[in-house]
Amino acid sequence: MDSPEILYMVVPCYNEQEVLRETAEQLKTKYTDLISSGLISNESRIVFVNDGSSDMTWDLIKELHDTSPQFFSGIDLAHNSGHQNAILAGLMTVKDICDMCITMDADLQDDINTIDEMVKKYYEGNQVVYGVRSARDADSFFKKSTAKGFYRFMRVMGADVVYNHADFRLMSKRVMQELSGFREVNLFLRGMVPLIGFKNCKVYYERHERAAGESKYSLKRMLAFAVNGITSFSTKPLKLITALGLIMSAASVVAFIWVFITKIAGFTVHGWSSTMCSIWLIGGLQLFCLGIIGEYIGKIYAEVKQRPRYIVAEFLNDDGKTEEK
Ligand code: UDP
Ligand code: MG
Repeated sequence: MDSPEILYMVVPCYNEQEVLRETAEQLKTKYTDLISSGLISNESRIVFVNDGSSDMTWDLIKELHDTSPQFFSGIDLAHNSGHQNAILAGLMTVKDICDMCITMDADLQDDINTIDEMVKKYYEGNQVVYGVRSARDADSFFKKSTAKGFYRFMRVMGADVVYNHADFRLMSKRVMQELSGFREVNLFLRGMVPLIGFKNCKVYYERHERAAGESKYSLKRMLAFAVNGITSFSTKPLKLITALGLIMSAASVVAFIWVFITKIAGFTVHGWSSTMCSIWLIGGLQLFCLGIIGEYIGKIYAEVKQRPRYIVAEFLNDDGKTEEK
């Protein structure tokens, strides 16, 4: 191996004051090991992205940067932009100053010891290394089953996602540069990165329980995330509507013949219940289909506005230099 390359970590943080110190401590120890074993350059940094937290998160990040600028950097976003946007903000800010970058959540659910393996895989020529959970014992039954259903459903719906991989991954500089060409506003990184391609591999790790603090993903946010994932990556739901429409049309021909025969046979009075059922069923189906179409129109609306996906208020890097963005 030639001289070690620069590894940046991007860690999105939203109200993570309970866990941040611990995360920083563990990452610092890991970096010290990696640097001394010659795997990564001593110019490598850990970048905490403050996603508009309302607690002390940014103060903590500033403090970490002030006390150990050789390890910690910080990005302060102007407002809460969401997990995916916070990761992207980090990646786009550091893509030109590092050789590889690992994204990881702040809550220590992802195993820090996997980083060594990811970096080794990078040196073997992989441009993307996906961290894949081998066990989900730490998650609640509810989270486990909804997550499993989510991946299955995503695949059936035609979005190519890596099973049990969230946003713990290594990307090379090249891949980050390519990612910057994806202009979409509805971000779903775990669907976008596989689209970029290049040589890639998976490493397996056990997912732990959140070290402290609470999950920022409520059921509502998780559902929104799943809907976003599907509608951003596939038009299959629209095709399903067409298919459904065809089936309904065929069924109505049969129904028409049935009604006609019933009329000829002279039983014209009965049929209130079947009429009511049809009205409800068809009304429901139509509303459902309109809803799906609306979902896509909403997406188009958001995309055509071309709003910035995040706004970097401050980037603290290296020797206390503050670069205004
Ligand atoms: N997060 C963020 N912005 C948000 C919500 C979450 O940057 O609006 C961060 C959060 O601080 C954490 C990561 O995204 O580092 C994943 O969130 P969380 O652990 O709450 O999700 P879960 O693991 O429960 O799915
Ligand atoms: Mg978490």
